Amino acid sequence: MTKPINAIVVGLGASGGIIAAELAKAGVKVTALEKGPHYPADYFRDKHDEIRFYTRGALVPHLSQNPITWRARNGEIATILPWASGPLGTTEPLHLPPSIGTGGGTLHWGGAVWRHRKADFQMRSSLIKRFGETALPEGTSVVDWPMSYDDLEPYYDRVEWELGVSGQAGNIGGELIAGGNPFEAPRKRGYPMPPLRSAAANARFVESTRRLGLHPFPQAAAIASEDYKSLKACVYCGFCHGYPCHVNAKQTSHGTSVPEALATGNLDIIPFARVIHVNRESEGGRIKGVTYINAVGQVHDVEADIVVLATYSLENTRLLLQSGINANGQVGKNFMTHCFGWFSGVLPEFTNSFMGPLVGAHVIDDYTSELIPDNDLGVLWGSPITSFPGDTQPLEASHNTPPEMRTWGAPYKEWFAHSYRRIFSMHTQTSSLPYAGGYCDLDPNVRDPFGQPALRMTHDWMAHDMNSMKFFTGVKEAIAKEMGMTEYWEEPNPPPYHLSTHEVGTHRMGLDPKESVVDPYGESHECENLFVVGGGQFPTLPSYNPTMTIQALAFLTADRIVGKI
Ligand SMILES: Cc1cc2nc3c(=O)[nH]c(=O)nc-3n(C[C@H](O)[C@H](O)[C@H](O)COP(=O)(O)OP(=O)(O)OC[C@H]3O[C@@H](n4cnc5c(N)ncnc54)[C@H](O)[C@@H]3O)c2cc1C
Ligand code: SF4
Repeated sequence: MTKPINAIVVGLGASGGIIAAELAKAGVKVTALEKGPHYPADYFRDKHDEIRFYTRGALVPHLSQNPITWRARNGEIATILPWASGPLGTTEPLHLPPSIGTGGGTLHWGGAVWRHRKADFQMRSSLIKRFGETALPEGTSVVDWPMSYDDLEPYYDRVEWELGVSGQAGNIGGELIAGGNPFEAPRKRGYPMPPLRSAAANARFVESTRRLGLHPFPQAAAIASEDYKSLKACVYCGFCHGYPCHVNAKQTSHGTSVPEALATGNLDIIPFARVIHVNRESEGGRIKGVTYINAVGQVHDVEADIVVLATYSLENTRLLLQSGINANGQVGKNFMTHCFGWFSGVLPEFTNSFMGPLVGAHVIDDYTSELIPDNDLGVLWGSPITSFPGDTQPLEASHNTPPEMRTWGAPYKEWFAHSYRRIFSMHTQTSSLPYAGGYCDLDPNVRDPFGQPALRMTHDWMAHDMNSMKFFTGVKEAIAKEMGMTEYWEEPNPPPYHLSTHEVGTHRMGLDPKESVVDPYGESHECENLFVVGGGQFPTLPSYNPTMTIQALAFLTADRIVGKI
């Protein structure tokens, strides 16, 4: 850095929190504009309330204020997310963008964290090498990332050690470690904390998958298994995924990065500041600042040397489009999301499905990404299979019963009384491929109460998504039978919803300014000193949860801004 700079960070979620902290620690004066509240440190002590957080979605953006529309294909009229407009509120936090307020999505995330595999950074090359170019479905825009696993490894390490991750390493410097993931990419060192304690019911999953010749290992988690830095050890309360943590065991930017940034005296947070426009000096020129609406509806302009948009992939996209920053027409293209495969069953013994974090889980990686075996269905890219033994409160469980069951009356009550405490779930999330018909733009018909156009998603599940689900349903059924489940079922397949909170790709990173929106550091090709960060940068969507890579990229962007690289 040659002269003192100041920066605006828009959004204090997973990526914005890290960037604000790293900039503030480097002496940059940061103004953070956050659409939601800045929650006091102990605000969530009384969070054990399923109706408030799960049914009414207390933390997630509400569609009346933050409309997003969806249609399956071009030419149709889009409607406000039809699957997310339940009578009591939002019905399910996973069917909307992540939380608003300081912490963003990390306020109520599950905390399942993954380093991507080496091949995840080279999806196109890997697919062509194995299956040939003709295997790529027509219209897909699958590319390689402009960086490798080795480039990002030091940043994954920083996420694990600076923010705190629990887990069991499987491969340190090429040496396989017993108990860990034998398929993981080599890491320089292990995790700073041991894995979370696993639910008792997990033992069946572990033994059964081993009998099937598979390799289960504990899920790495952004949850403290023991006291670590500012994190306190998890107490396995069971109101975890979809809830804030009352003991500060979950790693959130609200509890980790933001307090660090505030302690420097270099961060000012303006809560309830809804950014509506990114302002620049002239067409193609340097960035100037942003315009926001405050809590009482007043409109303000703020200026800075650098602007970082960290408002989640979808809102980043909406803001770029609304600000006319899309000279090459690439903003909003290449939309990708995970195709969720929630599979549940009933075990003979109690599983106590209401206890523990969702990610007190085991995983098998035998069929993930490029490890997918040859198959007649033409599935090109695989998924991990994760056990979900707990963290299921009664209302959530009542939304996930065998499909043929009537959800009222005496038989239902009997089923629930017997089976709720015996539920055991498994999960897959297959990668959707970027294709020409999957994109986001501004909805010409729907506006929010502040007069801003809604984001419109156009996306349908493709044959590859359906075939992937079919393949993995078969594997999960085999595991369920081996585990001795007395009944099992899967949620609608493919899902009726097209939001998984893993929406990526819509401001793709790349080296070619004609074909991408930002460079590998997240800086806009079109607008100097504008950084646009988060999953929107991903050129392809690996089947792992995205946030750890989003956090690693945030550290990379911060290093770039303060001149370390
Ligand atoms: C229930 C749930 C469980 C999840 N579990 C996992 C998991 O286990 N593992 C995983 O990897 N990922 C998980 N995720 C996804 C994870 O939350 C996101 O990947 C991550 O938060 C994205 O980070 P981000 O920085 O891009 O955006 P966010 O964390 O969403 O932060 C965006 C911030 O920007 C603010 N903002 C938005 N618009 C504006 C505006 N116009 N002006 C000002 N501020 C604005 C928001 O209020 C928010 O604070 C989960 C999400 C949910 C909802
Ligand atoms: S299960 Fe653990 S991490 Fe999750 S909310 Fe409860 S105490 Fe926090």
